[in-house]
Amino acid sequence: MINIVLFGPPGSGKGTQAQHLIEKFNLKQISTGDLFRYNMKNNTELGKLAKSYIDKGELVPDKVTIDMLIDELRKPTETNGFIFDGFPRTANQTEALETIVKDELGAEISICLSLVVEDEVLVQRLLKRGETSGRTDDSNEDIIRNRIKEYYTKTAEVAELYKKQGKYVEVNGIGEISEISEKLFAEVEKIK
Ligand code: UDP
Ligand code: MG
Repeated sequence: MINIVLFGPPGSGKGTQAQHLIEKFNLKQISTGDLFRYNMKNNTELGKLAKSYIDKGELVPDKVTIDMLIDELRKPTETNGFIFDGFPRTANQTEALETIVKDELGAEISICLSLVVEDEVLVQRLLKRGETSGRTDDSNEDIIRNRIKEYYTKTAEVAELYKKQGKYVEVNGIGEISEISEKLFAEVEKIK
């Protein structure tokens, strides 16, 4: 299996690049953010709970997110592997993911691909996305800045854990979308 953690701050292009990676390598994407938005749209209990954090630009608590991820991974699918998009977001989630991937799939995380984009570019991209996405967390600069702050205080340390395992690769996330995809593909080819 190829199991990819697609990593980077909000607005770094994870969702876009995940689409290209799943097509290229026949993978299944699991985006915890998309799962939360699906639940919010359908007004489930999980959705209501998640909304109370997401609307402030905060992270949803680990337990809630991890349980949702386990449910998703248990759904039967035919795939060469998974792309985890926007997860893990804390050190605790990183450790949990290692166990879950081992227990549920008998596999490991192969690589952590990290998209690097500077903060001011992120803010501009997210404000632009907010014009059409309908996402409340993209609509306001203060919420966007809080998401970036959460990234530095809670999520950036995820990179350190994958660095220690020798699985961490950075790719410049600014440039043509197709060029960035090619760079990501090349990194996956190296470990195939
Ligand atoms: N979120 C979270 N845990 C996750 C994924 C998402 O808490 O594992 C919440 C968090 O509030 C985040 C929001 O959902 O700001 C949107 O996340 P998503 O990954 O969809 O957006 P992105 O950061 O990629 O723009
Ligand atoms: Mg996303």
